[in-house]
Amino acid sequence: MPVSGFGPIISATDRCELCPRRCGADRRAGEKGFCGAGVEMEIYSYGRHCGEEPPISGTRGSGTVFFSRCTLRCLYCQNHPWSQEARGDRYDAAGLAAVFRSLADEGCHNWNLVSPTPWIPGIVQALEMVHNKGRRLPVVYNTSGYERAETIRELSGLAQVYLADLRYSRPESALEGSGAADYVKAARKAFLEMWSQAGALRVDSEGIAQSGVICRLLVLPGRAVEACENLEWLKANAGAGVCISLMSQYIPAHLAGGRPGWDRGISRAEYDMVLQAAMDLGFENGHVQDFGGRAARDLVGFNMKQGRKT
Ligand code: SF4
Repeated sequence: MPVSGFGPIISATDRCELCPRRCGADRRAGEKGFCGAGVEMEIYSYGRHCGEEPPISGTRGSGTVFFSRCTLRCLYCQNHPWSQEARGDRYDAAGLAAVFRSLADEGCHNWNLVSPTPWIPGIVQALEMVHNKGRRLPVVYNTSGYERAETIRELSGLAQVYLADLRYSRPESALEGSGAADYVKAARKAFLEMWSQAGALRVDSEGIAQSGVICRLLVLPGRAVEACENLEWLKANAGAGVCISLMSQYIPAHLAGGRPGWDRGISRAEYDMVLQAAMDLGFENGHVQDFGGRAARDLVGFNMKQGRKT
């Protein structure tokens, strides 16, 4: 998977430093990185997805590709069979380009790349292939937020919409919950790069995202205050014009059931605290997941307060 014409991080597949782990695996020679990614792309599933935020799913669905592997180790991961246990099929760039074409043929609004980080080199090759054939849809980079700002900078022009989490505000929580003590520092730096690159959410006449950033805040049990701290950070560093997505869907999936503090859903009081903080800070653009929606894997139950038309 050598990649030419891109920045040094994306091109350097013989010493992978795509994500903040910077584990240096020589994936081209068959080594696997911390995330488990080797030389060939792995995809768990793809298809039309109607459960994302309204500007992403729209009326015809989001053309979503769920990539296998992940750079985090979230003990509550709802996608662990493919993020941490390697389920999925192997694809080369031509195979992924065919997936992109089929999603476009189905009428999907965008190409929505879920957990794409380890596979950026193959993804950019596949996008080049479809672009060369005259097919273009907005590319949604759908990420846990655990990214290198330098890698995001090299993606400039390739991704139009960033759908990015800010999950923690305290390193000890990030270490315990996701095995990444540097999450807060890395995710905030990467967010600022996304923000300077893509800016505020822009939607077309149908309300479908064409460019910009949506920041997801998943409220975690016992850690609602961290979502509030992230809202404060967002306001101080990007302003209250950022489109936010408040999420109540945490469930103690995967290993969380046996971990004190992580073994319950969030309470209504915790969620209300975050909603109140968002209102008090003056956030106007975004989406709020219904409290009762947390049992569903899909993001159902968003209020339809759309991103501002520009
Ligand atoms: S993407 Fe995977 S292989 Fe590359 S630096 Fe991160 S953990 Fe290592």
